[in-house]
Amino acid sequence: MASPRPPGVTAASFAAALAAFRGALGAEHVLDGDAALEPYRDPYSFRWGDADEYRASAAVLPGTAEQVQAVVRIAGQYRLPVYPISTGRNLTYGGAAPSAPGSVIVDLKRMNRILAVDAGRNFALVEPGATYFDLYRHIQAKGLNLWLDVPDTGDGSLIGNALDRGVGYTTSGFRDHFGAHCGIEAVLPTGEILRTGMGALPGSDTWQDFRYGIGPCVDGLFSQGNFGIVTKMGFWLSPQPEAWMVGIVSVPDYTDLGPMIEQVNYLEDAGVMTGKPSYNSPPFHTFEGTFPSAPPKMHIDELMADGWPSLERIKFYARRHGGPAWRITLQFYGPEATVRASWDYVQARIGAALPRATFQSADPVALPLSPAQQRGRRLVDFGIPSNQAFEMTPAEAEAAELNAPVQGYVDFMAVVPRTAEAVHRAQRVLYETQKAMGAPITATPFNAPTCWFHRSFLMRAPTVAAFKGDPEARRKGRALYAAYAKAMAAEGFGLHRTSPAMQDLTAGLYGFNDHALLGFQQRLKGTADPAGILAPGRYGVWPRQLRKGGV
Ligand SMILES: Cc1cc2nc3c(=O)[nH]c(=O)nc-3n(C[C@H](O)[C@H](O)[C@H](O)COP(=O)(O)OP(=O)(O)OC[C@H]3O[C@@H](n4cnc5c(N)ncnc54)[C@H](O)[C@@H]3O)c2cc1C
Repeated sequence: MASPRPPGVTAASFAAALAAFRGALGAEHVLDGDAALEPYRDPYSFRWGDADEYRASAAVLPGTAEQVQAVVRIAGQYRLPVYPISTGRNLTYGGAAPSAPGSVIVDLKRMNRILAVDAGRNFALVEPGATYFDLYRHIQAKGLNLWLDVPDTGDGSLIGNALDRGVGYTTSGFRDHFGAHCGIEAVLPTGEILRTGMGALPGSDTWQDFRYGIGPCVDGLFSQGNFGIVTKMGFWLSPQPEAWMVGIVSVPDYTDLGPMIEQVNYLEDAGVMTGKPSYNSPPFHTFEGTFPSAPPKMHIDELMADGWPSLERIKFYARRHGGPAWRITLQFYGPEATVRASWDYVQARIGAALPRATFQSADPVALPLSPAQQRGRRLVDFGIPSNQAFEMTPAEAEAAELNAPVQGYVDFMAVVPRTAEAVHRAQRVLYETQKAMGAPITATPFNAPTCWFHRSFLMRAPTVAAFKGDPEARRKGRALYAAYAKAMAAEGFGLHRTSPAMQDLTAGLYGFNDHALLGFQQRLKGTADPAGILAPGRYGVWPRQLRKGGV
């Protein structure tokens, strides 16, 4: 399938725009034609090879913020939609492909400088193409006492990941990557440059220290947004912790989940447990905490054979399994004496609330890990970027419920309150949806929540594979995903991130007061981007001229 032309743009006008881009950036930094644009397809797409696949018409690779301004001005002149990416590794959420077919990709990977790293005030300021590997190597080379919170994608960018509200694995204050940003520079759809927060005060040296500046805080417009192309962004970093300790709490009864969640919420919110908790159900182990040495998955067909089981049957199944019904891994980062004292406190507190809880732990490990200690460990837990998640064998990937290395999938993660009642309600909704859609039943009373964000659970729907050679499987996958989104939203559980193909649907579900939020975002978009050129349709925000109806 050939790459499309931007909608409503004549061949002559498109050719003139490409010539203008070549004049501004140099011919070697403007790409067109199917072969050159192959890397800008989403390899995990629900629509791979279909006529409606979201494909780019061209790609431009500016090397400076001034060149980004030139690109935006040319796009405005020719009414070309442009779609910025930093490193374009947004796999499971659209990859490098645009939110509107026919857009010109603005690929920022050449802008990869690390502009400032301060190990006294603990921050970094980077350009969009700077990857987690780049910043990690910079910190190592300079011997700085800093560490990063990293996602599974070590070759992803700090800026792209944070702007799509990506997450990592270490301490509560840093796992939410947009939450840990401080200061943005962006090129607006009209070509002007602005800096947010203290960056707006000429001569200020607190751009990466104090996020708010004065007046309305507009940083959020650039996150999951289409109000500017971010050319610099600051991030708060953590000093390298002195030690890491892991403790595992096991509880025997299925109904122990509720009191355990209350305990873990307390420990995390009170700052006693500094790391990411992982819930796991040994009778049906789930994604969390299983990589890289996952035990074999038990078959649950028997439990689910007659539909959603009664509580009696669930408890019986859990007891027959022989081990604990739930296992929660708690992680602690900090000085050795502090992590030991925290774990002692955890055992005393949970032991008093749940007398049948059992505890396992290992001695604290001094950080940073030596190369020998790194072998066989999940490096993301130690702030070390890697691409381990992409290096799994098919068996490991299946055990971790990630079929990414095999073919591709689209992630479905819904925001759910931190209570057992909500977790069980979400499990049931996912199950009923699978049943209604004739999908394989993988949602069970034992599916565990994940804890990337500090204050809410995410419930993951079993992955929706995007089978490349099978249009019918793709159609079914899209329908299942949409059904999950609607059924979960009916219970008040919303997606926190999604791929362009599902952004209209998802944004439409956030419909309080006749879609007042989306309506406001669209009005802002109309003013900030009168030509409607910047990432049209991203997260449902369309410029007026391309709106398909509704708000
Ligand atoms: C096996 C596997 C594991 C994964 N693990 C994680 C994980 O642990 N945590 C996680 O968060 N994700 C994870 N992902 C999802 C994804 O791969 C990562 O989030 C990745 O870091 C995003 O790609 P990127 O950093 O290259 O961002 P990009 O693809 O460059 O950007 C993402 C989006 O942000 C916007 N954007 C980017 N740059 C700019 C800019 N400069 N200005 C304006 N808008 C911009 C664009 O809309 C773009 O599409 C995983 C995916 C897979 C397949």
